[in-house]
Amino acid sequence: MLFRILDKTELARLFEELAGNRIIGPVSRGSDRQGAPIYSFEVVYDFAELRLDYTTTRMPAKRFFLPYRETLCSFAVHGRAWGKIVDFNIYQPQILFGLHPCDINALNKLDKVLMQSVYPTPYYSSKRRNMFIIGLDCMPQPFCFCRSMGTDTALHGFDMFLTDLGDRYFVEIQSAAAFNYLKNITAREPTEADHVRYREVAAEKNSKFTAQVDTTDLTKILDMEFQSEVWQHWGGRCLSCGTCANVCPTCYCYGVEETVDLDLRGAVKTKHLYSCNVVDFAEVAGGHNFRPDSHSRLKYRYYHKHRGFVEAFEESLCVGCGRCGEACLARINVPEVIASVRKGEV
Ligand code: SF4
Ligand code: SF4
Repeated sequence: MLFRILDKTELARLFEELAGNRIIGPVSRGSDRQGAPIYSFEVVYDFAELRLDYTTTRMPAKRFFLPYRETLCSFAVHGRAWGKIVDFNIYQPQILFGLHPCDINALNKLDKVLMQSVYPTPYYSSKRRNMFIIGLDCMPQPFCFCRSMGTDTALHGFDMFLTDLGDRYFVEIQSAAAFNYLKNITAREPTEADHVRYREVAAEKNSKFTAQVDTTDLTKILDMEFQSEVWQHWGGRCLSCGTCANVCPTCYCYGVEETVDLDLRGAVKTKHLYSCNVVDFAEVAGGHNFRPDSHSRLKYRYYHKHRGFVEAFEESLCVGCGRCGEACLARINVPEVIASVRKGEV
């Protein structure tokens, strides 16, 4: 790993170097009813728009590589022949500027399923391969439990990673592209004083975690508590709205629908992200629903994140960003649900 120190004033120059590409970064979008700022990942054209002091965005950056609705292909009839158009929907390389460690780890987990598994999806892979990621360290919010999930730091999955040392950034370089971009920027080798400051910042971050999830033996405990009544409790509160999956950086379940033109001369196949909490998620042809109760759907989401994915990939599918708990109108959140399953009571 190569390290460099970058004066904060140089970051705007790095932005300019990258500006020939589509840059996506955190921006401010006003405040909520409690006065808390709302941040969002958007396409950014001006460095001044970026809010690198952002906390957690309400929505993840997922829509830029896993859109909520995406055309997979279309068909058209021309005379007696017909044609098929497949478009992977990449228009130019994307720069993700300022992703926090949890969101980088979320991408790494999605890669395992959507790029490295038995059935890779070219729509995701094509966007992912055209991505340059600048990571940015953060201070935990009261709802963040990424440390419990081992995702409070990112070890890979980025091109360069910035840690704010006050008047300068500590930069980790992980790709040749990042190294080459930095050649045009004034950057220097870190000194011992920079290393000391880096460790101080890391210690400050570690001291600020408040929320946590005990993941010890969690897969076994989930197996033992499959019939626990706590699932009925949480399911009784769940509104089956699907918001938790919408805001989750690792939820990738989807449905596919085909729309045929009235004159039968064209058709479009569309993929849309879906939530396993929504009432018809497990409905199949003939109208049978394998999970008609809200508690069985909610339980399924937790078992996929914390049990099934661990069995398949030896890690949880949850990165502990806390977005689902913050967004849920029924105040259902991962730390409380897992704690109740462990205790066997709410
Ligand atoms: S857990 Fe909350 S956000 Fe998720 S579907 Fe139920 S009510 Fe909606
Ligand atoms: S399940 Fe909740 S806390 Fe875990 S990654 Fe998804 S949104 Fe974040």
